[in-house]
Amino acid sequence: RAKARGRDRSELFDEEMRAEAMRLLDLEADLRRAILSDDFEPYFQPIVRLSDGKVVGHEALLRWHHEQRGLLAPPQFIGVGEDTGLIAQVDWLMYRHVVRWLSRQQHGYVSINVSPRHFVSDDFAERLLLLLDDAGADPRRLRIEITEVALLDDSPRALRTLNALRDRGVVALLDDFGTGFSALSYLHRFPIQSIKIDQSFVAGLVGASHAESLALVRAILALAGTLGIETIGEGIESLEQRELLAQLGCDFGQGYLFGRPAPEG
Ligand code: C2E
Ligand code: MG
Ligand code: MG
Ligand code: MG
Repeated sequence: RAKARGRDRSELFDEEMRAEAMRLLDLEADLRRAILSDDFEPYFQPIVRLSDGKVVGHEALLRWHHEQRGLLAPPQFIGVGEDTGLIAQVDWLMYRHVVRWLSRQQHGYVSINVSPRHFVSDDFAERLLLLLDDAGADPRRLRIEITEVALLDDSPRALRTLNALRDRGVVALLDDFGTGFSALSYLHRFPIQSIKIDQSFVAGLVGASHAESLALVRAILALAGTLGIETIGEGIESLEQRELLAQLGCDFGQGYLFGRPAPEG
């Protein structure tokens, strides 16, 4: 009996593996089609100055209008996009929408996300600057959000890319700061002007066992202050979190408290 049960279980496992593989293949095929018809749209979420709540810019967040499944957010497809390399094509479609939007805005900056693998492609900086120039958008009003993984693999090329962008005034920002191992060392090796404190720490600031998050956030803010790096708290959902971050010296904030990501008005 035990043997029979074991076999059943492994058959069930095979079945699940097969279903998952099929799901991923479907998603990849859908993604290829979506690229051909550009079924992507940026949603925008405000970033505010914590001292007075003034909106200083927006983060552009990728959305996919899937013909059967409706609106999809990156966690639902970014893995397949990255594994297949398709994310670079999606990103360029996305950035085109974003710079057009930027060229129509009177105030503030827009921040775009870049997948690590995509960021280290040869012509990334050139292509981005060309896109901005073609749209008549000011590079000084564009920010790029990268994670430390982008700096890990190919640091000479990453440095060249960041320098080329900085020369035209594009601000580089480290996203999800504090979740990796070596983010600290990147701050002085690369031209990074801003960091986003990961939402897990912001969430950890209130409620039970908040002491650890508090200590971490305090240390990050102290370091950023010393280095002259601007700080943005991410995932702020409550007034309590906002006030605490402001008290601790965090410059800017983003989160549902100020506004959810929304399509262009
Ligand atoms: P991220 O850059 O760290 O973006 C923040 C995520 O937190 C977004 O999820 C946003 O909708 C969500 N968020 C904002 N405020 C709150 C809050 O108060 N509470 C909670 N719980 N969540 C909040 P989203 O839009 O699903 O994006 C997920 C990730 O996908 C992004 O994380 C970014 O890494 C990636 N991504 C987004 N847009 C693009 C893109 O155009 N290209 C690439 N390559 N990646 C993108
Ligand atoms: Mg981001
Ligand atoms: Mg983040
Ligand atoms: Mg993230």
